[in-house]
Amino acid sequence: MTMEDIIAIPPAPTKQSAPYWEACNRGELLLAKCGDCTRPFYYPRILCPHCGSRNLGWLKASGTGTVWSFTHVQVSFYGKRWESQLPYTPVLIDLDEGVRMLSRLIGEGRDAVNIGDRVRVEFIECEKQNIPYFTRVGGKV
Ligand SMILES: [Zn+2]
Repeated sequence: MTMEDIIAIPPAPTKQSAPYWEACNRGELLLAKCGDCTRPFYYPRILCPHCGSRNLGWLKASGTGTVWSFTHVQVSFYGKRWESQLPYTPVLIDLDEGVRMLSRLIGEGRDAVNIGDRVRVEFIECEKQNIPYFTRVGGKV
């Protein structure tokens, strides 16, 4: 599967998540960060999940991390169009900033992924919105 073949269900940004999606379109991965307890978190939301503060800001993430878990999906849950994506690999990534993020693994070596593999973000444009996917470090899209 090439980059051009990858499809996605486009996001519906909220007031809290709009800066995150705008940053994706600039090629940056942002994490919400609490202004009180200073901890980053994913996904963006109205309150800090650690301390409940509404004093929130943003942190530019490195875009690198480690595979915490993954699966290979063999069945289309989104109709005929999605069958072109099979099999695809949802992945839970522990970003180097200490935040766990759900995404999709793409690119070379995806089918041989293991827990603990190093990965980095790769933005793929789908319907004029960059989506943050991940590739294995050393792999090619
Ligand atoms: Zn906090």
